[in-house]
Amino acid sequence: MLIARSPEECHLYMELRPCSCGEDGFTWSRHRQERRGDRLVSVYQGHCSRCSAQRRFEFEVPAVPPPPPAYGGAEPSRIVDPGEFYAVSAELAESVPDDPATLAPDDLDEAYGLIEMSVAALAEVLKFVPAGADAVSPDAFFTPDGRRVYQAHPAEFGRDRLEALLADRRRRLDAYERASSR
Ligand SMILES: [Zn+2]
Repeated sequence: MLIARSPEECHLYMELRPCSCGEDGFTWSRHRQERRGDRLVSVYQGHCSRCSAQRRFEFEVPAVPPPPPAYGGAEPSRIVDPGEFYAVSAELAESVPDDPATLAPDDLDEAYGLIEMSVAALAEVLKFVPAGADAVSPDAFFTPDGRRVYQAHPAEFGRDRLEALLADRRRRLDAYERASSR
């Protein structure tokens, strides 16, 4: 059973696992939560938009997830690896302009949400740095995609480098926050 820490983490996991036909992303048509013994299970079902194959994901989820925007609490993810979180964070950050002033007010909210999730995804990478260590361990990458990201940019996974990048993304989020409240 996949163990997820929040609905956001379930959604991200499904987005990162393409259908066997190669189609990225999955828009489920049915979602329900059920009790199995003392576990709470979140079930997503639907069909691939390209090949129509039936897809189904089951996650064990906590009764009380962390408040959004967050993929989880202090503990690292067990289903999305640090290389995947790093790539997701970069992709989200690149999808919005540096300067919020260039956006129409209607687009600002959406862009703010994307930057917010970019910050949350990068914070997840840091959770994989063990206490007292100065980098994510190469063993922490448990998916082929995540390992590829690590092999392409191993230096990006040092604690100092990640903290500097996170501070930078948070400054950008602050700029968006100021722009949104204008
Ligand atoms: Zn498919």
